[in-house]
Formats: sequence, C-alpha cells, structure tokens
Amino acid sequence: MPGSKPTAASYDPEAVRAKYLAERDKRLVPHRADIRDLQADEHFARYRDDPFTPFIQRDSVADDVDVVIVGGGIAGVLAGARLRKAGIERIRIIDQAGGIGGTWYWNRYPGVMCDVESYIYLPMLEELDYIPTQRYAFGEEIRRHLGAVANRFDLVDDALFHTGVTRAEWQEDVSRWRVHTDRGDEVSCRWYVLAVGILNLMKLPTIQGMEDFAGRSFHTARWDYEYTGGGPGEPLTGLADKVVGLIGTGASGIQCVPPLAESAKHLYVFQRTPSAIGERGNRPTDSDFAHGLEPGWQRARMDNFQGILMGRPAEVDQVDDGWTQHYAAVQHPPRADGMTMTEYLRSAEALDYGIMETHRLRVEELVADPATAEILKPYYRYLCKRPCFHDEYLLAFNNPNVTLIDCPAGIERITEQGPVVDGQQYEVDCIIYGTGFEAELTPLFRRVGHEIVGRGGVTLAEKWADGAASLFGMMSRGFPNMFVMPAPGQQAVVTVNYTQLAVLGAELIGGAVGLLERRGVEVFDVSAEAEEAWTQEIVDSFVDSSAVMSACTPSRINNEGHPEARNPRDGNYGRGFGDWFGYRERLEQWLESGTFEGLELKVRSTTS
Ligand code: NAP
Repeated sequence: MPGSKPTAASYDPEAVRAKYLAERDKRLVPHRADIRDLQADEHFARYRDDPFTPFIQRDSVADDVDVVIVGGGIAGVLAGARLRKAGIERIRIIDQAGGIGGTWYWNRYPGVMCDVESYIYLPMLEELDYIPTQRYAFGEEIRRHLGAVANRFDLVDDALFHTGVTRAEWQEDVSRWRVHTDRGDEVSCRWYVLAVGILNLMKLPTIQGMEDFAGRSFHTARWDYEYTGGGPGEPLTGLADKVVGLIGTGASGIQCVPPLAESAKHLYVFQRTPSAIGERGNRPTDSDFAHGLEPGWQRARMDNFQGILMGRPAEVDQVDDGWTQHYAAVQHPPRADGMTMTEYLRSAEALDYGIMETHRLRVEELVADPATAEILKPYYRYLCKRPCFHDEYLLAFNNPNVTLIDCPAGIERITEQGPVVDGQQYEVDCIIYGTGFEAELTPLFRRVGHEIVGRGGVTLAEKWADGAASLFGMMSRGFPNMFVMPAPGQQAVVTVNYTQLAVLGAELIGGAVGLLERRGVEVFDVSAEAEEAWTQEIVDSFVDSSAVMSACTPSRINNEGHPEARNPRDGNYGRGFGDWFGYRERLEQWLESGTFEGLELKVRSTTS
C-alpha cells in the first residue's frame, strides 16, 4: 500500500482493513492511556504554575453578587456578555488563570493558532466591529479579542484571577450559592455558572522514570519562554544550543514543530500516532472581506459551516476548507438510490480511503526522506482521530536538525538524560509534553476542579456518578440556579466550532436569567420528570458505534480503544454525529416560550 495512488484499481479493501488493524494493534497496548493526576501531582506541581502573569497577593474577598462564572475563557466571557445584555449588574468571573482567555490564555506555545476559520471562531465580531487579520487566527489575536469582549462588557474589573474555586454549596435558607476559593474568598451569588471548558486539565502520561529527567520539562499549555527565549511568533533564541524532545503530535504538538525546528539545535519529535495533516491555506484577510457584510453575517456563516458538516445542502460553501470538504464528506457519504446498507458502507469506506490516501500522498510529496514519510502517514479511517491542518508541519521534517522517532507503543521510559525508545537513549536538554488535555471523556465534576454541593448535601460527583443527568446538558436537578455551559459528553451536543456552541449556551443562560429576574423568581430547579425525559432522550439516541470504532486506532474519540465502555448517559443530543440544529431549536423555543417548562420555580415573596 505505501505509495499507492487512490485509484479504484489499487484499492483493495481487505488489504486496507488489515493494514489499519495492524497499525491499531501496535498502539493498543496496556496502560497507553494512563495519566498522572496533574491536579494533585506533587512532583510535577510546577507544571501547573502560570508562567505568563506574576502572582499578586491580595486580600480575600467576601461579598454577594448576582452571578459567579467559573472560567474566563470563551464560554465564560460569552455568558458574562449575554448576562450583561440582560441587565445583570454584579458579575464575578473566577479563574485560575492570570487573565481572560481560558485555553487561549494558557496555550501560548510558539505557532499556536486555531484551525477553525477565524471569521466563525472569534465570537461577537459584529458587536465589536472587528475583522480578524487572517483566515486562521493565531492564539495571541484570539486572546486579545476575548479580552476586548470582556472589557466591552465590563467583566474584568470584578474578576478574580489566579483564583481557584475549591467548593461551592447551595444555601437553602438564603437561596444562594456560597463559593469558596483557594485564596480565602467567600462569594455568594444567586446564579452560578460553570464555564470551565473541555481543555482545562492538562494531560501528562505516566511514563516510567519521568521524574528522573535532569533537564528542563514543561507542558505545551504552560510554555516556558524563560527557558526557550522568544515568544509566540518570535525565534526561540534560548534553544540555539539545546536538544529538544517533543512528545505528542496532536493539534498542539504539530503546531509547535515548525518554530522548534527553526530554533533548536536539534529536535526529536516522538510520535505515537501520526495525525492526518490536511492543507490549512492560511492567508491574510482580503481587504474587501468586510465589504457588503449584512447584519447577522457571522451567525449565517457559522450556520453555513455547521450545515455543511451536518450534510445539509448549501448553495455556497463560505468557509471552504478541510473541515467542510474532507470532514463533511466522510461524515455524510452520498447514498445512491437503491443502494443496500452493505453497499453504502462499502462506498463510504472507499471514500474514506480516498481521502486518507490524499493525506498520505501529501506526506510523500512534502517529506523528502521516504522512511520518515512512511512513519508520518496515517493509516486509519479519517474520523478515528481529530484531523489536523497545517502547511509547514510536514516540511519541517526536511530540516537536518529534525528527527522523527516512531514510538507507536509510547515512550518506553525516561532517564536522567531523556526518553528511551526501542532501547535507544535520546539525550535531550529539554522535554516538551504536547500530550493534550483530559477533554470530554473526563466527567464534568472532575473538570470543574471543585466540589459542588447541591440540595441535601448531595455533590455533583455523587449525582453524576453513574453518568450525566440534566436538562439540555445545562442544568441538573438538586443544583438550583446553576447553569453549565454546554459541551460534548454531558448531554449537550458536539460541534467542531466550539464558539458556536458557547454562543448558544450564553444565549440560553443570559436570556433565562434575565427573564427569571424580571419575573421575581428566586429559585429554579429542574423537575424530576424533565430531567428524566431529557436523559432518556439522550440515552435513546445513543448509537453504539463500538463495532466500527473498535477498528480505529486508539484515541480519545474511541475511548482509547475501548468504545464499548462509553456510557450512553454521557452522550450527546441527536443520533450519530448529533443534531446541532435540532438542539439549538429546542433551546431557542424553550427560551422563547418563556414558560420555563421543566423547571420548578419559587417566586420571591413580596411581603418580605
Ligand atoms: P492530543 O490531541 O490529545 O494529542 C496528544 C498527543 O500526545 C498525541 O499525539 C498522543 O499520541 C501523544 N501522547 C500521549 N501520551 C503519550 C505517550 N505516553 N507517549 C507518546 N506520546 C503520547 O492533544 P493536543 O494536541 O493538545 O490537542 C487536544 C485538543 O485541543 C484537540 O483535540 C483540539 O480539540 C484542541 N486543539 C485545537 C487546536 C486548533 O487549532 N483548533 C489546536 C490545538 C489544540 P496518540 O495520538 O497516540 O494518542
């Protein structure tokens, strides 16, 4: 198969399946998904430190506000902005970061960018009258823009940064949440909003001997510019005489390879599984981009993108990139009239093969050394892993100072000198872990990073121990006046463009709180029936794809090779790839009706 062209004549489905399974088996090794708990890990405690903003001592805060929002990333900022629009005055964002930005605060590794088009990813472009400078924005621009949104809606002055919530408990007697932090604050609030995102917990694999490494090491989400020199977009001058080992070749790892290749004396890239690297095609925004844009253009563009990903017919593909071409195509293979299911599945497999061959051929074309190129070729079906898009990553392997190390079973061990693979010691000065985040497989109650105590002393962890239970994936019975921003894996819906989901979640929260306040509602809780009904809908629409997904190379998408272990209650709205538009319609109709169906309401007493 290596080097073959995606022609019908060379396509042998049996051989392809066998190759994919053989590649999967190299990676399906025991303990491949073992991680250290970086939230508690003592040895690697400094990995959690904020290298970007100095920690400033302050007095603890004890006060009462209308809303506490945990998280100052896209989700928290949008929720705050929408709450402001609803007339809510006292809003406190609390975040462990030293400023606004969430994932874009922490991820400042060189080359950091978003491979979802900037015109649909940066939120509130119309409100802020801002047009991103490039088709795909770099992290700095996204972070600055989120800061601008937060400033516009006055969310910064009252925010508590470098502050972790340790516990939140519902106070039945006063109908408020009391929020405790690691800086001794005690803030009570009427409405409690969790906006912690899905990329907030860094993942550090358990690798034998990793504590013994004598050089410098850090995670991509806490880039150590003090050591590497430079900054995002600037040469890493401190690495000129340094040998660097990068572990991980996911969306983050691949983005920092070109700048590392440019600056390091030598770069070893340790690759467990190659990502499929599609064309990115970044370019400066056309000078006439904004010309003639109608009000509502951003939502329309987001919908156009999402519609194409959902297989909806569209007159024009406004974004027109790898997501709308390859990703959409494999999600919705065409089904000709009269095709049996078996024929349909075969044609879908052939289409997938063609797209993956295109990626493999791209590697061949761009990487000069055939042996290196072969290691970089992804042998699995397109949706087995999150696809990546980059124009310089593959080319970086043509630099004489870059060596790709194939380690399908992971790093064997790490010694004082550096990683060992297949018995060979690689001596490095620095190890960079581009090993990702605990993402959506990690239940919400862990991702929030603090204990949430609801009615009757029941914690969210206890309530969700057997899986999520919610209304819309955003409210849960027993946790009154609490909203969770929607995210995959918690009974909401999956999207490629997370911003669009955050906009929807913010609309619901801002709209609902505004209306509840106007109606004098002091407390809401989800009714038992509404929660059961929503949870049942999620469970009923769960499609057990484990037969297909177990053939995939292990990744978080197939639960690291164990798709059968997925809990239907932690699923998403809609069958298969989900029903984004159906989900949005449900939420919008619910809000628009103003009846708060499914909620039990306690109206403020007028005599008190
Ligand atoms: P990731 O996709 O989880 O990748 C982690 C990498 O570390 C993988 O290559 C993984 O190998 C490797 N790895 C883990 N344990 C290892 C071990 N013991 N030995 C060797 N290698 C090991 O993490 P990420 O790249 O940070 O991306 C996470 C998510 O962030 C993405 O899915 C995306 O949602 C988001 N993101 C988005 C963008 C964007 O442009 N929009 C950019 C960056 C990140 P395997 O592949 O074999 O597991």
